[in-house]
Amino acid sequence: MKKPVYMDYAATTPVDPAVADEMMKYLTLDGVFGNPASRTHAYGWQAEAAVEAARKQVAGLIHADPREIVWTSGATESDNLAIKGAVAGRQNAHIVTSKIEHKAVVDTCKWLERQGTEVTWLDPAADGQITCDQVLGALKDNTVLVSLMLVNNELGTVTDVAAIGAELRERGILFHVDAAQAAGKMAVDVTSMPVDLLALSGHKVYGPKGVGALFVRRSPDVRIEAQIHGGGHERGMRSGTLPTHQIVGMGKAFSIAQAGLEEEIAKLEALRKAFLAGLQSLEGVTLNGSESSCVPGIVNLSFEGVDAESLMLGLRDLAVSSGSACASATVEPSYVLRGIGLSDEQAHRALRFSLGRFTTEEEVAFASSQIVDVVSRLRAVR
Ligand SMILES: *Cc1c(COP(=O)(O)O)cnc(C)c1O
Repeated sequence: MKKPVYMDYAATTPVDPAVADEMMKYLTLDGVFGNPASRTHAYGWQAEAAVEAARKQVAGLIHADPREIVWTSGATESDNLAIKGAVAGRQNAHIVTSKIEHKAVVDTCKWLERQGTEVTWLDPAADGQITCDQVLGALKDNTVLVSLMLVNNELGTVTDVAAIGAELRERGILFHVDAAQAAGKMAVDVTSMPVDLLALSGHKVYGPKGVGALFVRRSPDVRIEAQIHGGGHERGMRSGTLPTHQIVGMGKAFSIAQAGLEEEIAKLEALRKAFLAGLQSLEGVTLNGSESSCVPGIVNLSFEGVDAESLMLGLRDLAVSSGSACASATVEPSYVLRGIGLSDEQAHRALRFSLGRFTTEEEVAFASSQIVDVVSRLRAVR
């Protein structure tokens, strides 16, 4: 059976072959398999050197100091560490976030809310944007943290974290940014973005799953409480034996992303244009999110009169995402689409197409012609 065309790069990316090759060197007896924390022999020293080289590569993509990178198991853990770690030990704390954050942030904030932390949930505008004024309007005397994502995983919209961060810095409020969908898709520079904590994931950037990082700013010095205790690894912020092969893979993936960033953005912009141009003959297609402030690889579309479930059944040759989650027997509409003001019905008509490094012109042409065919067919039988 021919595999469907992969258009779900926002869910995960395949590991770049150069990354897989590199990882293979850090597993077996003839490779560098030692424990990076072993200080007494060359096996450990070599593994430690590999981990530190990867730390430089990950720091490089976001222009951080390598000492500001803490290894984690993924962006979910990074978000948990950042938010819980910032709030820990603060009495009567207040935090600000939005209704369209990734579940890793939403559920962490809900958990804190149940523990007694006060949470303000901001409503984005119809285009998915959270404004600086909105954030400022929500601040209180006891606000300790604001958490907002740089790029939304369902819509592709980009938050103006530079402007928001500048205001928060002046007020001494910590700013956590989930950048899992931004790294490798746009320029992320912590020297010009005044953020304190920033979450990254390996597998959204052609690295392996199960590894991530948290940027923790050193100047001004940001302090967070560890959430996993053990040997005191990662300067006490995250214990556990470091998975050398995963870390080396993430490092390689981030260095490839940095070297090819501009080229990749240009390629994805062209593919996005071609994809949307291929749909032009269809009436009643709306783009969810922001047309002007978005990453090119994520395209969220609603098709009037056609529900996403039927459309996906018809689009068996495309691997896409509906954003709706099947909670037990019922299909829940995406809380992100509901969050930008879509009705349940409108949200049920949306599909997310996400393009990436290995997407070809032929694939997007095939995808748009399939969509035109299936949508027209479904509308004809209404
Ligand atoms: C994928 C994703 C995460 C979770 O990352 P994992 O590494 O899979 O835990 C968090 N936030 C956003 C915005 C994501 O897209």
